[in-house]
Amino acid sequence: MTRRLTHIILHHSATEPTLRANDPEGARLWAAIQRYHQKRWRSEVPGYVCDYHFGVGPTGVILAGQPLPMIAFNCGNAPLNAVSIAICFLGDFQRAAMPRRQLDGGITLLRLLIARRRIPVVRVLLHREVPSAVTGKAGFTACPGRFFPAAVLRAALGPAGGGRPASMNA
Ligand SMILES: [Zn+2]
Repeated sequence: MTRRLTHIILHHSATEPTLRANDPEGARLWAAIQRYHQKRWRSEVPGYVCDYHFGVGPTGVILAGQPLPMIAFNCGNAPLNAVSIAICFLGDFQRAAMPRRQLDGGITLLRLLIARRRIPVVRVLLHREVPSAVTGKAGFTACPGRFFPAAVLRAALGPAGGGRPASMNA
């Protein structure tokens, strides 16, 4: 099964970064998030795992979610869901800054996906940059939060991180 992957969409969990007890890397929180998404979708979509393909925990650990060949219902815009890879950074970046280790883990994951899937950096979107499928306007959500380090992250990925200059991308 193949699926065209043209965009990456970045989210936060809007929760604490871990479950606190025995959850130093957020793996138990990630499992709880997945169970919640499975409860919602499994009857309609057999094998559904998660609304995100990857999670990034507060120590920078990468957590596996929905298999890439499967659509993850992540951004409220069906055409973009169909072609996107969804990444969720654990934590609430509307209220707190991201730890450097978590940012570094996210950058490593993004560099890998951008290179492997030839996705231009201009198509790495914050959830809040995604236009609503209903109104056509972006900004219907604060996700991934006002303190999400978008500028630092984009600078680290570089303008040609997808192997092509941004001007070549419609
Ligand atoms: Zn989101």
